[in-house]
Amino acid sequence: MEISFAGKRAIVTGAGKGIGRATALALARCGAEVVAVTRTRADLDSLLLECPSIRPVCVNLGDWGATEEALREAGGNADLLVNNAAYATLQPFLEVTPDQFDMSFNINVKAVLHVSQIVARGMKARGTGGSIVNISSQASQCALQDHTVYCATKGALDMLTKVMALELGPYQIRVNSVNPTVVMTKMGRLAWSDPGKAKTMTSRIPLGRFAEVEDVVNSILFLLSDKSSMTNGVTLPVDGGFLAC
Ligand code: NDP
Repeated sequence: MEISFAGKRAIVTGAGKGIGRATALALARCGAEVVAVTRTRADLDSLLLECPSIRPVCVNLGDWGATEEALREAGGNADLLVNNAAYATLQPFLEVTPDQFDMSFNINVKAVLHVSQIVARGMKARGTGGSIVNISSQASQCALQDHTVYCATKGALDMLTKVMALELGPYQIRVNSVNPTVVMTKMGRLAWSDPGKAKTMTSRIPLGRFAEVEDVVNSILFLLSDKSSMTNGVTLPVDGGFLAC
């Protein structure tokens, strides 16, 4: 299936590493003008070496005011948005601390709401419609040991996706999420590097493996594209069947 984003402007958050970085590069390869948002300057520098057409925005999405300022221009002109940046922390339920709770909800939920507001206001004003993809997780729908706060943020994100789909649909702005299983990025390695833990997880995935970054990117591109033009408000598992069992 050929997908072209020629003439489209896309914003990808958390584009410095992992799934976000690969998504930004894939969108650029498909012809989109890409704005890459992340907070580590060195990651943006290396991304630009790889793909000089990408426009870098360096900001901590946890800072509401700085985000507003940083996305003022790009946010008003985007056709596509990928809310990918997230923070993961591992704490057993009885040891969850308020700082980790606040940090997680601030990035994984509040920043998604905020960036989406900025972008969707622009889409509505221009009357051009658009497509937004939120990067959720299998953890939104299945309890994972020591993932109390992360699971809670992704559960909240799934509902945010659905309400955004409801309220933005009339402006022809579609909002969907992808919900991957484990991907061995920096974040994936944090929780699943231990071979014993990894084996326990893969044994619960019917396809018997973790997802590759490209598996997730392909689903993101589909949901961003017109190939999914009647798909709105879905949470699409990219999990080898984990959530089906
Ligand atoms: P990575 O940790 O590899 O990359 C996350 C990116 O987001 C980094 O570039 C990071 O920058 C950036 N980022 C984080 N916080 C902020 C912030 N406050 N402001 C700006 N940028 C920020 O993560 P993944 O690629 O693995 O994850 C991408 C998405 O996929 C996330 O939403 C995650 O929850 C989801 N996901 C991941 C899974 C996995 O197993 N990896 C499984 C299911 C879902 P920096 O490094 O500088 O902090």
